[in-house]
Amino acid sequence: MPIFRKFFTMCYLRNTSNVYLYCLDEHPMKQDADKFKYLSVRKVAKYRIFTSGETVLLLFRKNKYAPPGIIGFCTITGPLKKLSEISLQERYLCREHSMLQLPVADIQCSVSMNIIDEEVLYSLPYMNEYLGKLRVFKPYSLINIYIPILNILERYREYWFIWHAKRSEAEVFQYKRLFLHKEREYISHRAYLKLSKNVTRCSTCGLEHKEFASFTPRFFEFHEPDVNPIGKYVKVDITKFIPLCPSCHRIEHEKIVPQCFTDKSFGIIGALGGHLSCGWNTKYFKDEFEL
Ligand SMILES: [Zn+2]
Ligand SMILES: [Zn+2]
Repeated sequence: MPIFRKFFTMCYLRNTSNVYLYCLDEHPMKQDADKFKYLSVRKVAKYRIFTSGETVLLLFRKNKYAPPGIIGFCTITGPLKKLSEISLQERYLCREHSMLQLPVADIQCSVSMNIIDEEVLYSLPYMNEYLGKLRVFKPYSLINIYIPILNILERYREYWFIWHAKRSEAEVFQYKRLFLHKEREYISHRAYLKLSKNVTRCSTCGLEHKEFASFTPRFFEFHEPDVNPIGKYVKVDITKFIPLCPSCHRIEHEKIVPQCFTDKSFGIIGALGGHLSCGWNTKYFKDEFEL
């Protein structure tokens, strides 16, 4: 059976009514892709209704080739089932027989590269503030993390040339910080209106501009100084943000990624290929990788 490789594009991560995060207990490529039919699931709320077509993002922590992170995704094909509702011939596809089983299909997965690393995911304001702390702790746990995560992953792809190419470790780390820094600086219209009241001057270069009026394009941007955005979560406090003109803000952001201006030892290796596979035959991955 041939191995199909596809480019990682968000059209595969379609908007669906819910997006779940699931913690895997073993690498999905240990078996053929078409055997990935059920997720054994720890307790979920009784009222939870799973609908065909919803997306499950797959978190894996025991990877030899990549740090803990979302390694792939699959699609839900029906409601949760008890083991007794699954035909005898298919039960061996269920990992934990004592749990409920969620039917899934169309897995896409990578061996060595994450869609996003766990430390970046869990440093997002979205995963910490708006709906409380969103976490999966143990294998087989599944939680709803809702649609906005797809927009965030889309923004993460803005730096595809960093994640997909063989850049230096320092540079990758700095770009993760820049991505999180920018996520922390997303400001709602209402908050922007409040922050920009009476602001007429860039706090770095002094450039002047009329005070922001509602329903006009924003001129000043608000920059969060002196917060390490990665690792232990620090709550966003917009009252500490400083107003900058767009140029000065760009310059502040360049300071977060200095490595790319000094280290030219990058290449395009990996930049041209997608990292997600689908429809694989496990033999290839067992021969090539120690899964
Ligand atoms: Zn300025
Ligand atoms: Zn900034």
